[in-house]
This record gives sequence, structure tokens and C-alpha cells, in this order.
Amino acid sequence: MRKIYYQYDPQRRVYRRVFPTVGQRLASWFWRLLLSVLLGGVFFIIYWFMISTPQVGDLMEENSRLQSQYRVLSRKVDDALLVLHDIEERDDNLYRVILEADPVPEVVRQAGFNGTNRYAELMDMSNAELVVNTSQKVDMLEKKLYMQSRSFDEVIELSREQENKLACIPAIQPVSNKDLKRTASGYGYRTDPIYHVRTFHHGMDFACDTGTPVYATGNGKVVFAKWQSGFGNLVEIDHGYGYKTRYAHLSKIMVKVGQNVVRGEEIALAGSTGKSTGPHVHYEIWIGNKDVNPVNYYFMDLDADQYEEMINLAENHGKIFD
Ligand SMILES: [Zn+2]
Repeated sequence: MRKIYYQYDPQRRVYRRVFPTVGQRLASWFWRLLLSVLLGGVFFIIYWFMISTPQVGDLMEENSRLQSQYRVLSRKVDDALLVLHDIEERDDNLYRVILEADPVPEVVRQAGFNGTNRYAELMDMSNAELVVNTSQKVDMLEKKLYMQSRSFDEVIELSREQENKLACIPAIQPVSNKDLKRTASGYGYRTDPIYHVRTFHHGMDFACDTGTPVYATGNGKVVFAKWQSGFGNLVEIDHGYGYKTRYAHLSKIMVKVGQNVVRGEEIALAGSTGKSTGPHVHYEIWIGNKDVNPVNYYFMDLDADQYEEMINLAENHGKIFD
């Protein structure tokens, strides 16, 4: 509806109708529109900076809470990485040293953690640095944990292997101390008791009565069990890992070739067969093709009671019926 305009005429004291031109009407509309826009702008600014709806306030508060939680999380990830680093150090410098294994190379520990930026989509966020940094650290933690877990699998496998190796390598005397008559005669050059010339003695002699039990000095398999010139009745055990032991001048052999024996198992009785001046056990240790001094292979260092106990334990070997 068109507006009707009046103007007061003070001389005639009447209202007179006026007819504004199109230009005047347009100008009037323009000024009103401008005023509305300005007022709108002012109210918008006031609203934006001062009033702010309750929802926006809540979101802002939540955002700042999330930020501080993110910082706490980031610090906790730092702590976890430190603990993991300590575990890695122990793995390399303790477990792997004991087991004579190489440390895990740093490249493997990092598990290819570098190269392409996988966090590009996070860079658009406000607080991108904190978020990207924390994400990177969590990823690193995850990868390092995985590598550490694999390393421990290897350590467990190595320690099993080591346990088996320790059970196989000769580590006790073939004759119990209580049965020994004299200190064993040693390895090395000595005057031959029969030919009276200096010859090399490749083993150790344990003087004892004929019929004294002779024990396997480590787990292994019997590879020789019969008469051999010079040695008389001879038993040879292959312990694996390059180790072999020989027990000579026996009065009786109690094992067969191919038989598995354990440390402390009775394999023969002492005697004086072959080239011998009296009852004793001649004991040799070989590593590959070389004989070594057996004196270094009694490191289980058992006292008489412990030795007895071990022999009793070994007696049950082969008598299990399952
Ligand atoms: Zn000898």
C-alpha cells in the first residue's frame, strides 16, 4: 500500500497532502535501508563479542578442556616412551648380552618411522601442532612396542636354546668325588706310566675302584660304545654344539650307540681295560676336532651332596614308563 504524506501549513493551520517525486521516494527507501543494515551490523558485533549464546560458551569451554587433556595425554605418552626406552636398553645391554646376541639395530627399532607426512589432514586444525605431535608420538609408541615385543619373542627363544646348550655342554666330573681315590691326573705333557717317555695326555684320569659308576657329564647321544685299541672299553657321547666326551678303560659299558643320555646318568663302570696301569676313568672333552683341558668343564661345581642328588635325579632317566 502506498503511503500518503501530509505537510502542516502553519499559516492556514491545515494539513496539506504532498505528492513526493519518485526520486524522493527512492532516496527515502535508500536511507532507511542503509540505517537498517548499520543497525543490524552493530547488533551483530555486540552479539558476537559480548553476548554469545550459551551453546557457543559451552563449546568454547569444552574446547579448552580438550586442549588441556590433550596436553596431559601428550605428557603421558612422553612418559610411556621413556619407560619403553628403558626396556629397550635393558633388552640390548642385559638380556642380549647374557645370551650373546647382537643388539636390535636402531633402524629396526624405529620400524621405518619417518618419511611421508601421514598427518597432513590434521594440519588444518587449530592447535595442529599439539595434535600432530601427540599423534606422531602415539604412532611411534605403538610401533616401538610391537618391535620390542618381537625382540622379546627372540630373547625367549634364545634363552630356551641357551638352557638346552647349558644342559648339553659337559659340566661335571664323570666320577663322583666320594668314589675318587686320588686327585685326577691332569691334561697335558707327562711321563707315560708304561713307556716312561714324555707324551701328551689328551684327557684327565680319575683313579677309582673297578666297578665305580661313570656318569655322562652332559646331555647327549651315545655315538661309540665298544672296545677300542688302547682305550679298552670306550664310550663316546656327542653333546651337540660341537662338544663330545670320551670315557675309557671301562670294565662294563651300560649304554648302546644311538641312546640319549642326560647329565648324571650312569653310562658305565670304571675298570682298567686297554693300555692301563690300574683302575681309573680316562676322560676326554673334544670341541670339533680338538681336545681341550677338561679341568675347565666342572663349572657346575657341585659339592658331594649336590652331586649325589643330581645322580639320583638322573637315575630316573630311561625308567619313565610313559
Ligand atoms: Zn688317561
